[in-house]
Amino acid sequence: MKECLFCKIAAHEIPSRAVHEDARVYAFEDIAPKAPTHVLVVPKKHIERLAEASAEDTGLIGELAARAAAIARERGLSDYRVVVNNGEGAGQTVFHLHLHLLGGRPFSWPPG
Ligand code: AMP
Ligand code: ZN
Repeated sequence: MKECLFCKIAAHEIPSRAVHEDARVYAFEDIAPKAPTHVLVVPKKHIERLAEASAEDTGLIGELAARAAAIARERGLSDYRVVVNNGEGAGQTVFHLHLHLLGGRPFSWPPG
């Protein structure tokens, strides 16, 4: 996707603070962190939002979740939150699937 911010970030066309990279997944620091740890984990493949993922993306989504857990483990976080905002009404502002890994402070429930 030519005009997608996270496609460009994953392709290193726009700078970011990398946390992890492999063939299918890129993770980087959120530019406006909402917690001491705020990492975004994205597929290199453009998927607009979770609802657009297809059956063939099941493994990839598992990789995103496993990567978020691995980053939390590396940072010594035992308690953390993983968030996917699907759609504008749920707070999605960048339309390329991403997991937010948030940690390092307490979280209330239900979320706002
Ligand atoms: P969402 O609102 O769930 O779509 O999350 C989008 C996230 O992307 C927000 O937390 C933003 O702070 C973050 N963000 C936007 N632009 C950038 C950027 N250039 N680099 C890193 N994070 C960004
Ligand atoms: Zn994209």
